[in-house]
Amino acid sequence: MSLTLYNTMKKSLEEFTPIDPEEVKLYACGPTVYNYAHIGNLRTYVFEDILRRVLEYDGYKVNHVMNVTDVGHLVGDGDDGEDKMVKTSKETGRSVYDIAEFYTKAFFDDTKDLNIEVPTVACKATEHIGEMIALIRRLEENGHTYISGGNVYFSIDTFPAYGKLARLDLSELKSGARIEVDTNKRNPKDFVLWFTNSKFDKQAMTWDSPWGVGYPGWHLECSAMSMKYLGEQFDIHCGGTDHIPVHHTNEIAQSEAATGKSPWVNFWIHGEFLLDETGKMSKSKGEFLTLSLLKKKGYDPMDFRYFCLGGHYRSQLQFSFESLDSAKTARNNLVTRVQKLLEEGASQLELSALSAPAQKCIEEFKGAVFRDLNMPRALSVVWAVLKDNDLTPSEKITILYDIDKVLGLRIDGVVVAEVQELSADLLALIQEREIVRKNKNFIRADEIRDILLEHGIEIKDTASGTKWKSIV
Ligand code: AMP
Ligand code: ZN
Repeated sequence: MSLTLYNTMKKSLEEFTPIDPEEVKLYACGPTVYNYAHIGNLRTYVFEDILRRVLEYDGYKVNHVMNVTDVGHLVGDGDDGEDKMVKTSKETGRSVYDIAEFYTKAFFDDTKDLNIEVPTVACKATEHIGEMIALIRRLEENGHTYISGGNVYFSIDTFPAYGKLARLDLSELKSGARIEVDTNKRNPKDFVLWFTNSKFDKQAMTWDSPWGVGYPGWHLECSAMSMKYLGEQFDIHCGGTDHIPVHHTNEIAQSEAATGKSPWVNFWIHGEFLLDETGKMSKSKGEFLTLSLLKKKGYDPMDFRYFCLGGHYRSQLQFSFESLDSAKTARNNLVTRVQKLLEEGASQLELSALSAPAQKCIEEFKGAVFRDLNMPRALSVVWAVLKDNDLTPSEKITILYDIDKVLGLRIDGVVVAEVQELSADLLALIQEREIVRKNKNFIRADEIRDILLEHGIEIKDTASGTKWKSIV
């Protein structure tokens, strides 16, 4: 079964074949480390993780490179606004280096919690200034740059294919109302490669360059670092859909204009947005949705991962706590069902030992994930396997462990639930609660429920009396 993926460049599904049959070269735009990642950002990293896992499941070795933006990302993608790192530094009084270190660690803690595989190379922009300067030099030699007002600009009029990814209609381009008009630009879509004429008094991070002391434009780092680690042409480049019209468009222009080779990248794969109740998820609204916040509210990071798998990566996904609760319930059910299989003595078999109906389940799973990463369909295979009476417990476990290499829900970490004895004190509390409920003293009944919860015991009132279970 061949892997097909939606290529934004072609606007269609295409069969995937890598340039080097042994190794897929994949670049994903990484975080700007001026704040915590919000759960929208994390949805994109979960989608990229699924992509990588599907490639690995298909037998490829994946060289996965991700940048960490610790300089040069302005508040607006069109060279407008302040540098995000400098802005946080001013607001908090901490150095930009401190901020970068703190939020880089926070980012990788989040991705670890979400069982997102660590990139083969995670590279910082500030450690690749030399490569960026070399790339500007190549662009300069090829006649694609000009200097104006002290900054070095990329001239999009020297690159006729500009805008091909987003299918931009350049005839309609005007100095947009959204972006600040930079009067140094010959064309409003030209973009900065090197700032020397910083708009800000305190640009904390600057480097010497042939054009003077300054710092790189944001788009440059992804071209310079991806080509350093993956070569001048490679297989896949991904990120969120917001990157299509500006960031990725500019990356293509810089890279293809520098090397003269096209296409720079064969597959462009973009993940759609996670929306909150206001529409766009943003970090500028005070308290925003982070993984730590979800954990504080009692969710397991795997609940969020399960929630993400419930939507196709090319569809927008609406976040709400109700939907997260549903994902949590479904995942808990999955864990309980797996525990039951293990209690029944299920154990992992060789895949080759599976019966024809079991093999068919794996084929159905492949049919879902190899057709443009259809994770909602993949999840329905999980439930079909659990309900299938033709499969033995060991076959079910074997299939689930196998497909969890892609789902990444840590199914193989599920263990048989420990049979726990209740201490005499807690048992006495449950008995007291039954009595006070009969006497309609619901205040005390609720108090006891809370005390039990603090001890990790959840109770349920049923017709045949109070049932309890351990939730730790
Ligand atoms: P940033 O740290 O802002 O550069 O963004 C990191 C990644 O998250 C990029 O690939 C963005 O395209 C992506 N992204 C930003 N906002 C959202 C959102 N609300 N939903 C999904 N992905 C997002
Ligand atoms: Zn990028």
